[in-house]
Amino acid sequence: MVSVLSPAEVKRPDGSSIEFANLDIAATAPCLDVVAEAVADLLPWYGSVHRGAGALARRSTLAYEQARETVFDHLGCGPHDTVVFTRNTTDALNLLAHAVPAGTTVVTFDAEHHANLLPWREPVRLGVPRSAAEAVATLAETLPTLTGPVLVAVTAASNVTGELWPIAELAEVAHRHGARIAVDAAQLAPHAAVDMTALDVDYLALSGHKLYAPFGAGVLAGRADWLDAAPPYLAGGGATAAVSADFTVRWHDGPARHEAGTPNLIGVVALATAFRALADVDMSEEHRLVARLRAGISALPHVEELRLFGPEAPRVGIVSFAVLGRDPDELNTVLGRDHAIGVRTGLFCAHPLTRRLLAEATARLDPAAEPPGAAIRASAGIGTTEEHIDRLLAVLAAHG
Ligand code: PLP
Repeated sequence: MVSVLSPAEVKRPDGSSIEFANLDIAATAPCLDVVAEAVADLLPWYGSVHRGAGALARRSTLAYEQARETVFDHLGCGPHDTVVFTRNTTDALNLLAHAVPAGTTVVTFDAEHHANLLPWREPVRLGVPRSAAEAVATLAETLPTLTGPVLVAVTAASNVTGELWPIAELAEVAHRHGARIAVDAAQLAPHAAVDMTALDVDYLALSGHKLYAPFGAGVLAGRADWLDAAPPYLAGGGATAAVSADFTVRWHDGPARHEAGTPNLIGVVALATAFRALADVDMSEEHRLVARLRAGISALPHVEELRLFGPEAPRVGIVSFAVLGRDPDELNTVLGRDHAIGVRTGLFCAHPLTRRLLAEATARLDPAAEPPGAAIRASAGIGTTEEHIDRLLAVLAAHG
């Protein structure tokens, strides 16, 4: 059974010690024990990648390319796909935005994380759908009105509500109309296996630090043609096949084209190790804990969860909520300082969506109330326990 590295206990202001309740796993996940071991095993062999013939360089190059194969296999990539290592999801989506052919129309929903909202040039924005079916229907209505190449860019799981988006259905609609689809899997990949071939998606982006591999690597996986045709994302060594005496450059095809500079060997080995380990994790305990948290919240008269699609929509281990009558930042401080609970307050890098969902949640509780300026988000994952959830619920109940 895999577990995560965490401090045994943290101190509270009264001098007592208590286990830290990390309910901020969606922001950045703790390191898996097997990931830390893989990194420790590799460190004595750490050397340059693609640049040397000594023992360290050979071993490091092999580890780097084996990590690429592992990610390729675990994401269910197909024969036309490639895996490019990036820093994180933001970097991966910016790389894709850079590689999209000129004249391509990008279509997004207003519910996206800023990482999938801001990199695109003048996208067609489809608003915030109120159900998975509405998302599919809106896309199906919009695509026939567009001409030229189209890329649909959509999240697989909302970082605000945790709700799952109907990726396979959206991909079917996109392909029926000759469009491609890119999926932001930053929040889905840590909670479920993602098979690009089964979902029939063209591009997928994710972050290692959200996948229990916090060593600075991310992934853009997907169809190689646009990536091979694009100018290198970064210009420099590693991306160059040859530079002539007059400084004419021949760039590599393949992932190296977009991986200039010394690559993050430790990060990608950590990421590949996490993929292998997570394949064996039973997520049913996480689902049970999230259901417990949601039930507890719904029983509190001053707390209301944020949701896009409705209470029954399937979701990953994320629950955001509005707390009426309390300053969210003060409450966050109380949670962290007095109760050793880590959550997140704010608008979660999805400002338009979170403001709107906060207003709706507030109106469900009290139509006359002013919505709070920020939501609180609790997120569960490997290492979360029932006691963590109950401790959070008890503090929320006491601050009504
Ligand atoms: N997409 C989603 C859905 C996210 O939740 C996040 C981070 O919270 C990102 C993209 C950006 O990830 P990163 O900060 O690792 O680039």
